Amino acid sequence: MTRWDAESAVVGLGAWGAAALWRLASRGVDVIGFERFTPAHALGSSHGGSRMIRLARPEHPGLVPLARRSRELWEELADTGREHGPGRESLFTACGGLVIGPENGRVAGGTLGAAHEHGIPVRTFTASALRFRYPRHTGIPSHHIGVWEPSAGLVRPEHALRAMLTLAEQAGARVRSESRITLLEPIPGGIRLHTAQGSTTARQVVLTAGAWLPALLPGLALQTFRMPLTWYRPLEADGDFDLEYFPLFQRELDDGLVLWGSGVTAGNDVCVSLYDGAGAGKQFDPEDTDRSVGAEDWSHLERLLPAKVPGLETQPARVAVSTRTRTPDGLYTLGRPGGDPHVIIAGGAGAQGLAQAPGIGEALADLVQGAPMSMPLDFLSPDRFN
Ligand SMILES: Cc1cc2nc3c(=O)[nH]c(=O)nc-3n(C[C@H](O)[C@H](O)[C@H](O)COP(=O)(O)OP(=O)(O)OC[C@H]3O[C@@H](n4cnc5c(N)ncnc54)[C@H](O)[C@@H]3O)c2cc1C
Repeated sequence: MTRWDAESAVVGLGAWGAAALWRLASRGVDVIGFERFTPAHALGSSHGGSRMIRLARPEHPGLVPLARRSRELWEELADTGREHGPGRESLFTACGGLVIGPENGRVAGGTLGAAHEHGIPVRTFTASALRFRYPRHTGIPSHHIGVWEPSAGLVRPEHALRAMLTLAEQAGARVRSESRITLLEPIPGGIRLHTAQGSTTARQVVLTAGAWLPALLPGLALQTFRMPLTWYRPLEADGDFDLEYFPLFQRELDDGLVLWGSGVTAGNDVCVSLYDGAGAGKQFDPEDTDRSVGAEDWSHLERLLPAKVPGLETQPARVAVSTRTRTPDGLYTLGRPGGDPHVIIAGGAGAQGLAQAPGIGEALADLVQGAPMSMPLDFLSPDRFN
């Protein structure tokens, strides 16, 4: 009889892999996690200080139950952080969030539709009410609305990721940092995972390698983009850009561009970035570890901000580059490709995937254990692109 080094292995410990490790270990599953760099590094997607989570997800009705479950788990993780980690607020702040845009647009209109469909409490603002309540957002046309979701919040990805890994290790998971999986070799009944240091056998493997997923499983329908993140200092220290007055937001403009960001939080400057990078978000090879930045990363914002968010310095105080992975339909890919009994994948996390990380981790644990899924996620099957 084969003896396995681990019952299951997780490859890639960004937010999704860390969540899978946490949920698997907390169920008592013998699991080992591999990360090619040091966890919470800045070469993947799960970094940058803050991420917005919200329940009213307009992209697909099936994402709302996942968002609800994830939010419960963020609360649970934050409570654990209060007791053992960097503190509750350092992980998750339930500060609410605002979306602004055309009433019939995908951002504000879509959010309002999802909120109504799923009974998520929201408050709506007319354009003039928005101008009064959130004066740092300027140039709001009269056909735009605001949708305030009190259940939205801010997650700090690096803290959250470390907290999930700590809990996983406390529950018995093994974490191998600086361990890149170079080859997945099918063997009878399982998989042999190769690193430069040696190999490990596992009955099942969960691949959560983000932008590097196609390198492990060629042929996956995933594209990777380089996305700049930009932080600005207010011109005046009058508190106008504090989170209370300039909350977490997404704002769709009439030309389809989407701004997103958040006000000053715990020592961070104001974050204002463009959702798709407006040309700066180019397709790239994640193996290229050059994350240097240049004026083209903020030139579009330099032109836009005086009209849309005045009161900030014209040059960003800080710029970072993050990666975004997208499927052809913009939804995640999660499941067993081709029904493989030993391989499970989760990727294509896109620009909203951090919020869903704990729920994704739980769904991955269900798949590993062959347990019935607590919510239908068939619409995310990797085979839908075949
Ligand atoms: C600019 C930007 C803004 C965003 N804003 C939001 C937001 O407000 N709200 C939100 O919910 N989401 C947001 N997102 C999306 C969110 O950040 C991502 O969906 C999420 O972080 C994806 O996590 P991941 O674990 O799939 O990928 P990653 O964090 O990239 O993790 C993959 C990991 O796999 C490792 N790996 C790869 N190959 C191997 C290998 N062969 N062996 C071992 N390890 C390997 C990598 O080193 C990496 O650590 C944003 C994304 C970007 C780019």
